[in-house]
Amino acid sequence: MSGTTCENEARATRPKGTGKPLMNASGEVAAQAEGTEWEYAPAPESRDIVTLAPEYGLFLNGEFVPAAGGDVFPTVNPATEEPLAQVAKAGPEDVDRAVAAAREAYERVWGPMPPAERAKYLYRIARILQERSREFAVLESLDNGKPIKESRDVDVPLAAAHFFYHAGWADKLEYAGFGPSPRPVGVAGQVIPWNFPLLMAAWKLAPALAAGNTCVLKPAETTPLTALLLAEVCQQAGLPPGVVNVLTGAGETGAALVAHPGVDKVAFTGSTEVGKQIQRTLAGTGKRLTLELGGKAANVVFDDAPVEAAVEGIVNGIFFNQGHVCCAGSRLLVQESVADAVVDKLRDRLGTLRLGDPLDKNTDIGAINSRPQLDKITELTAAGEAEGAERWSPPCRLPDRGYWFPPTVFTGVAQSHRIAREEIFGPVLSVLTFRTPEEAVTKANNTPYGLSAGVWTDKGSRILWLAQRLRAGVVWANTYNRFDPASPFGGYRESGFGREGGRHGLAAYLDA
Ligand code: NDP
Repeated sequence: MSGTTCENEARATRPKGTGKPLMNASGEVAAQAEGTEWEYAPAPESRDIVTLAPEYGLFLNGEFVPAAGGDVFPTVNPATEEPLAQVAKAGPEDVDRAVAAAREAYERVWGPMPPAERAKYLYRIARILQERSREFAVLESLDNGKPIKESRDVDVPLAAAHFFYHAGWADKLEYAGFGPSPRPVGVAGQVIPWNFPLLMAAWKLAPALAAGNTCVLKPAETTPLTALLLAEVCQQAGLPPGVVNVLTGAGETGAALVAHPGVDKVAFTGSTEVGKQIQRTLAGTGKRLTLELGGKAANVVFDDAPVEAAVEGIVNGIFFNQGHVCCAGSRLLVQESVADAVVDKLRDRLGTLRLGDPLDKNTDIGAINSRPQLDKITELTAAGEAEGAERWSPPCRLPDRGYWFPPTVFTGVAQSHRIAREEIFGPVLSVLTFRTPEEAVTKANNTPYGLSAGVWTDKGSRILWLAQRLRAGVVWANTYNRFDPASPFGGYRESGFGREGGRHGLAAYLDA
């Protein structure tokens, strides 16, 4: 399988009779003689660097072991539907074993360890992640379906950066503003989703470990492999047994973990629905909880914005990682006077995106992570059409096998439409317009979520004015989807509570 350009037939200059577009990835029209074809040469990343085992165990007390009940489940490559491996499915007995191992490690080894010693392990993990970065990137793209250029340039380097950053904090917690001797909380139960499997594991583990906690991590059912490879890295780094435990399994495993009486702190990233269930389960238990849930972010473009840059930001905001991003800029709010010009340029740009083999280095849009997620995107986009919005996608040849959805733009969207209210979690943009800054704020805030927002304008004063009024945990100005371990990330209202990253993220793992 190789990538195919999403062709914008209305706009791409093309030679007679070839049916091929002549634009390159930067949107430049290639100077070509009439009648010749212009195509990307395939640039596949080799998957040889990854050695897949036929079966993977749970990572429990420093060892890989089968589930007590012997159950397994398959994990597949969403780009091809090829089964990759069988993975152990943790049951209640395994949750007990993992929490007991984490407790023992917390009390005997990790809690009492001098913080500077803990930091050494985190630095080691960070360095091994860098050394094995290609292996991680290929495995992530195989199991998740995301383009290799994203796993290689975003997920893996950021995961390493989180370990480096938090390693630096481990012996400086007394100076972090939490009081003279902040203490770890104990055993952390951490449940993560499938959209950034390795990166979310790093977001959860690094601050918890730096603060002196031990961890039981539950990766998503459809993307367990990089968390297990990270467990192998923990072994390689000599991390004491029980400090990190990885329980693969489905939703029931996550539910059993968060409800376990031996868990002191729960950290969850995923859907708002499951976040609410967890909050109900934990009510009255005294357990600490942070929730990083869904979003329906507004990306606000004013008439004085640099249009080319804004279009790149819109594309990055919603088509990065197939739109499987909680902070995705899924609602474009564009000032009415420039709406046509912006949407025209956006369509041109979408015609140059390449959809296909996630392991091809030219690919911009990879596979949808699972059949249920594809069904959800299909259902919501059908609702968008039924409710009267106008749907547009560049003509795209979708691969025959695997789970695929073309980049899609809806115009004529009303605030009441489901595609303007619900998290689609796919490569689907809803375009709304506004006339005044006040109207932009009202529409941007017209959502039960509050995770992120973007603003595109030439005026610094307008950025600050808007940032003060947008009810979102993160506001990006003239950029989008920028992440840094030093910068706290998290939401308001139905997007959850608590922060991850930075000094604020450490607070969740400390008793100060
Ligand atoms: P979930 O919230 O169901 O999954 C997130 C994690 O929680 C997974 O590890 C999942 O396990 C686990 N889990 C599921 N049920 C429970 C439970 N009752 N108690 C504890 N843990 C549980 O998200 P989905 O994968 O089902 O995605 C559904 C929708 O959620 C998406 O379409 C998207 O809109 C949104 N979403 C938002 C994310 C975000 O970052 N904000 C991330 C992922 C999804 P398992 O994988 O085995 O089900």
